[in-house]
Amino acid sequence: MSDPKIPDPKSDQSQSRNRAEGRTPLPDSMFATQAIRAGHNRTHEGEHAEPIFATSSFIFESAADAAARFKGPEPSNVYSRYTNPTVRNFEERIAMLEGAEQAVATASGMSAILSTCMSLLKAGDHVICSSSLFGTTISLFGNIMQRFGVEVTFVAPTNLTEWENAVRPNTQMLFLETPSNPLSEIIDLRTLAAISKKAEALLVVDNVFCTPALQKPLELGADIVVHSATKYIDGQGRCVGGVVAGRAEHMKELVVFLRTAGPTMSPFNAWVFLKGLETLQLRMDAHCNNAQQLAEWLDQQPQVEKVYYAGLKTHPGHELALSQQSGFGGVLSFELKGDQSAAWRFIDATILCSLTANLGDVKTTIVHPATTTHGRLTNEQRAEAGIRDSLIRVAVGLENIADIKADMSRGFAAV
Ligand SMILES: *Cc1c(COP(=O)(O)O)cnc(C)c1O
Repeated sequence: MSDPKIPDPKSDQSQSRNRAEGRTPLPDSMFATQAIRAGHNRTHEGEHAEPIFATSSFIFESAADAAARFKGPEPSNVYSRYTNPTVRNFEERIAMLEGAEQAVATASGMSAILSTCMSLLKAGDHVICSSSLFGTTISLFGNIMQRFGVEVTFVAPTNLTEWENAVRPNTQMLFLETPSNPLSEIIDLRTLAAISKKAEALLVVDNVFCTPALQKPLELGADIVVHSATKYIDGQGRCVGGVVAGRAEHMKELVVFLRTAGPTMSPFNAWVFLKGLETLQLRMDAHCNNAQQLAEWLDQQPQVEKVYYAGLKTHPGHELALSQQSGFGGVLSFELKGDQSAAWRFIDATILCSLTANLGDVKTTIVHPATTTHGRLTNEQRAEAGIRDSLIRVAVGLENIADIKADMSRGFAAV
């Protein structure tokens, strides 16, 4: 066979890594190292960086080989909607970082959430959802999933009694983000894991805001982690993608769904995300540092009504965040003393901050949640999520903090 042989990651991975690096496999605790090394199986070309396998399909050695590969066993490459070595490299690296048995990559964060639902829920099942979720996730659960006969109850995320009381005999899934978007509410993952276990339901955590560099939900009792890789995993705003991580029994269902329905990740995007992971720890530490400084400064400004950032000691979730996160993340929001027009004037007066709904980028972004990311919600849903008209969300980037503060000062001057 003329193609470089891609080693079976289950049997050959550690051997291949040993050969490449000349030493024994790395212990799981070495996060920064795993983020740079995990899942890379060099081909016989000996390339140092991870290659991009830009191919839709793979050739077989013979008719018998083709028949065998179609039959399984996993994983042998047939077609890139099924498996692709670059995508698998990304999946293995993320699985390692989240402490998961397996991970599967998807075309976007939303398709990670959709695929999780389509793979593990059926008509008649019930889901309990935090009411403080990414706006599109609320639409997915509140509109689309309900059309397919999945019952959904939204609860106030930090009210554990509400979660407990919402459990029904048909409850199959609890879904949340912590810290939440955009109010940075911190949800007690250990307690929710206990509630979901008692209900024999799956606890699914959207870990976009922390990434495994700051929080590992699976270690705290969650069953499944979902990501929009579009955010901090890329970190530089280049690609859209997602990933789901958890136990092999659940990921098996996801693999079947993804192969059949098709929302898989492209090899190029997987490669960009691999490069992103290599600097994840460094970037997250720097995002936390800048966000903390900005939150403390905003908290002292007379035109600010309230700052939402768990790194502030006055934040109601501060202690809880310390117990389940190793950093407070890069996203904060604040309410101005004023109305929607004050918020819009503030935003329009900034020059450095990018006015975009994206987050998790080295560039600081600023947005008015009530009329953008959460604009599709009804007034009632928005009130339930606590998103006021004077609220501004800032995803603090890695520019010099003095320049970010100076830009905010332009905003305050325009209010
Ligand atoms: C962006 C985002 C998503 C959706 O991800 P896409 O990659 O845009 O599909 C889901 N959850 C959170 C918390 C997000 O920020």
